[in-house]
Amino acid sequence: MSATQKPASTSTTPSHPAPAVATQAFLARPHRLFIGGQWVDALAGKSIDVFDPATGGKIASVAAGEAADIDAAVAAARAAFTGPWAKFTAAERGKLLWKLAELIERDAPLLVELEVLDNGQPLAVAQHVVNRIAPDFFRYYAGWPTKIEGATVPAAPQGRRPGEVLSFTLREPIGVVGAITPWNAPLPMLMVKLAPVLATGCTLVLKPAEHTPLTALRVAQLCAEAGVPDGVVNVVTGYGESAGAALAAHPGVDKIAFTGSTDVGRMIVKAAAGNLKKVSLELGGKSPVIVFPDAVLEQVIPGAARACFFLQGQNCMAGTRLYVHEQVHDEVVAGVAAIARGMRIGHGLDPASQFGPLISAEQRERVRGFVAAGTREGGELVCGGNAPARSGWFFEPTIFTRMHAGMTPVKSEIFGPVLCVQSFGDDDLERVASEANDTIYGLSGSVWTRDIGRALQMVRRIDSGQVSVNMHAALDPAMPFGGNKQSGWGREFGKEGLEPYLKTKGVSVAW
Ligand code: NAD
Repeated sequence: MSATQKPASTSTTPSHPAPAVATQAFLARPHRLFIGGQWVDALAGKSIDVFDPATGGKIASVAAGEAADIDAAVAAARAAFTGPWAKFTAAERGKLLWKLAELIERDAPLLVELEVLDNGQPLAVAQHVVNRIAPDFFRYYAGWPTKIEGATVPAAPQGRRPGEVLSFTLREPIGVVGAITPWNAPLPMLMVKLAPVLATGCTLVLKPAEHTPLTALRVAQLCAEAGVPDGVVNVVTGYGESAGAALAAHPGVDKIAFTGSTDVGRMIVKAAAGNLKKVSLELGGKSPVIVFPDAVLEQVIPGAARACFFLQGQNCMAGTRLYVHEQVHDEVVAGVAAIARGMRIGHGLDPASQFGPLISAEQRERVRGFVAAGTREGGELVCGGNAPARSGWFFEPTIFTRMHAGMTPVKSEIFGPVLCVQSFGDDDLERVASEANDTIYGLSGSVWTRDIGRALQMVRRIDSGQVSVNMHAALDPAMPFGGNKQSGWGREFGKEGLEPYLKTKGVSVAW
């Protein structure tokens, strides 16, 4: 048996602390739709059960909104857009965003537990998201409303001379926004839509993922508490094929902001064609991690493990294709495998857990299928490959070596903890660059080297919306993020993240 062929011995934690009383009370209460500032029942009276993926047990039940509920939410969003919300000054919108950051911090214990129970992520991840990432994001966007400006333009339309006409642009909110979000990071996914909506003066109908609706419902309450007028933020929980499809096709919606799979992204584009609403898409990824022999391996090894296994690989930026120079291949693989084997699998509420479950039994079967394909197609399984014997939808962190372009797990977005390793030699730089790009996706990627020239050469060659050097998936509220190719349309984060929510009006005044 080679050094890379040890059986998986990832440890698992047996039990977990109970959630706080406040969290239990939140879970137990009825979860209705938030429309026009009111909690209302879904018109058809249907509901969706919500499960803790770490136990497989039901934790809550939420209303299942459908097309008629979307109609009501869009009407409320339209009334707010043309009504009281239009009277808010930019500074007032900024204050609301700042207040929301404060309320998220105040509510952190509840939001952290909801995020863990709903999605399965480890406690430390949820704490970082709720205490740091979300407040920072809302505060960043709190600074923008007062800086959204048009320009004066030296235009001379219809033969006018300077002094006879004044031309300028107005930046206006695009209108009613439909946002559809995935389950892999529920709070961040809604935050990246809600913050620019409020900053630009748009209104929102949010359809969170059916697996993870809970933090969206709490954030709706926080918006009301912050003073966001009724109807500006509406939340319709429901299934994608009913509530989501109705929102995407709705003639009263001016723009859809979608995050999710590339396949559903295509459906959104078709649905949006009816009224040609604007569409921004944050879709799938299959990101490369490229390690040169001069890289600092003490950074590469934990960095590559985190790049793939963060959120159990259910992460659009996941670095799931690891290209390692042959000189350091065995050392890097052994190091990443040691981390993978040593990760404590367990319930996110147990602070010792480092690795949570997949979102559903269905997702776990999908991942299992990709692992079977990798083995069948000749990959060498270094570690993982199995579901541990415990309740919940866990799957071990898994590493394959001897992979090559064209193998099923190398080509597909698995959205699970499966790392595909390939090696390259000194003469293979062109091959690595072209293989890194040999994917329909182009979301993220990283290059690990001390040679800045080589790093920048690779940065230029990788066709992705984000490339990081000596780190992976370097996100920041100020840094635009989004996909090339079939990873999406448009950018979120930063100043560019406002653009999809704004329209420009050219004005010329003759006198
Ligand atoms: P998904 O596409 O299945 O679902 C996303 C959302 O779309 C959910 O709210 C779902 O209910 C809704 N939906 C499903 N069918 C619909 C339809 N016909 N019409 C309208 N809405 C519909 O994706 P998922 O499984 O929830 O999330 C995983 C995917 O999301 C991965 O592909 C991942 O890469 C991607 N993702 C991308 C980013 C990014 O920023 N690029 C971030 C996170 C996740």
